[in-house]
Parts: sequence; structure tokens; C-alpha cells
Amino acid sequence: MFIKRSKTIEEISGVTYMNGTVKLGSVSLNVCSFVTDGVLIDTGASRLLPVFKSFFDEADVDKVVITHHHEDHTGGARYIQETKNAPIYMNEKMIESVKKRATYPLYRKIFWGVRKPFDARPIGETFESRSAKWTVIETPGHAIDHVAFLNQETGQLFSGDLFVHPETKLILREESIQQIIESIERVLTYDFGEMFCCHAGYVKDGKKAFKKKHSYLTELRDRVLDLAAKGYTADEIYKRIFPKTYPLVYFSFGEWHSKHIIHSILRDGRDDEENATTVP
Ligand SMILES: [Zn+2]
Repeated sequence: MFIKRSKTIEEISGVTYMNGTVKLGSVSLNVCSFVTDGVLIDTGASRLLPVFKSFFDEADVDKVVITHHHEDHTGGARYIQETKNAPIYMNEKMIESVKKRATYPLYRKIFWGVRKPFDARPIGETFESRSAKWTVIETPGHAIDHVAFLNQETGQLFSGDLFVHPETKLILREESIQQIIESIERVLTYDFGEMFCCHAGYVKDGKKAFKKKHSYLTELRDRVLDLAAKGYTADEIYKRIFPKTYPLVYFSFGEWHSKHIIHSILRDGRDDEENATTVP
């Protein structure tokens, strides 16, 4: 099968960002890497290395920070480790895992490529770039090790995959809607303006975007739990709320699916009820 790759490079408010796209059949996905103040944020997918290499080679950076372990954010890490004198930092939860060969499903290896093992150091709660201090914000839900980065000098937020789209229609099987809602609430307690999302790119008003997503997810959660309370099954709720099936569902053999949103909400909803009944 023929895979097409392309990239664009832009600069906004002191941030250079490269947006790479992989297209395979009817499925086309993009991912961004950012450089600002001597820091590279996320490293794209190994499938994109042929078009990302020159960006990495020219990037004037002394450290690399990674929002989460997924292969479209860590695919260039090994190349950077071999070619640049810049340590890589990420949440310690997945540091052992990324030292080993990639184990994610075949369709993801075909699409994003195989992430080569690399060595990372634990990122901690803050870090410094050439002229700024940064806050590392724990934002699990999309992935257990997901973190967002806030530049305290500029108020720019690098949100990894926490935002992506204001109206989430598909998630991975292991994602948690409730954790994503709580992570958005945590992020909204900080002062920030511009946001750089690894898939949506530049978002001028990051707070407004996250508030919109928060409303959508909390309303969706409440609707799902209301329908469940009325006696609808998970499958009936799914069909009412998400009548459309997206190409990525078939392409991913169901690893991405709207059904996982319903199941995640019901799982956490039920957990709350169980906890409530065990409290004396
Ligand atoms: Zn991801």
C-alpha cells in the first residue's frame, strides 16, 4: 500500500512548528513537533522521519521534552538521541517501556512506523529553558503518562493530545473520559493564552478551547449516565449518541471507537456508585 508523507513548517509567537501528515488510503492523520527557546517538544512519528529529519537537524535545541509515549510523539526520539547532544525528558511512568521494542498493534506500526527504543530521563514537576521556567502539568486520560507543558514567561501551553478536538467522537480503548475531564479542569487552573496542540496545531485562545471541550465532555457524560439510569444498554446509548461510524474505526480494527467513550463513562460512573455504597 502506498503511504504519502508531507509537512509544513510555520513560526508563530517564537514557536517554530512542523506539522507532518501521513496518508494511507482514506485515512490521513497529522502530528506536530515544536521548537521554542532551545526546547524541542515531541518528536513526531518514525514514518515521518524522512520529512522531519532536516527540521530536527537544523533545530537549535539543548533539550527534548515529550508529552506522552505514543508512537506519533516519540518516533523521532532515537534519531535525535543519535544525532544531537540533547537529553530527552518524559514522565517516568513510561521510561522503562520506551527503552524496549515497540509493542503496539500492527496497523499503528504500518501507519506511524515502528518507534525505535530510546533512553529518557524523568521530567519532574518543572524544567528550565534558555530564558524561561516551565511547569509540567500531569494530564492523564488519553495516556497514563500524559503531561502538558506551560511556559511561565510567555503563558504558552503545549498540550500534547489533551485537546486535539473540542468534540471528541473517538477514543482509544484504554482512554478515560473522566480522567480527561479532570485533566482539563487541572489545566484550567493555570494562567495561559496561546496553545500548541500536537494535532490541532496553533490555538490562539487555549482557555476558550478547553472550556468548550470541557462543556462538551461533561454534557456527554451526563447524557450517557442519564440514559443508563433509564435502563438503556451501552450499545443502545452508543447508537443514539454516535450514529456515524468513522473510517478510523475500521482501519484500527476497533482500537479507536466511539463505543469506548460510552464504556469509559459507564465504567467510571459505576465506580462512583460502588464507592458511594461502600462508604459508611
Ligand atoms: Zn496520543
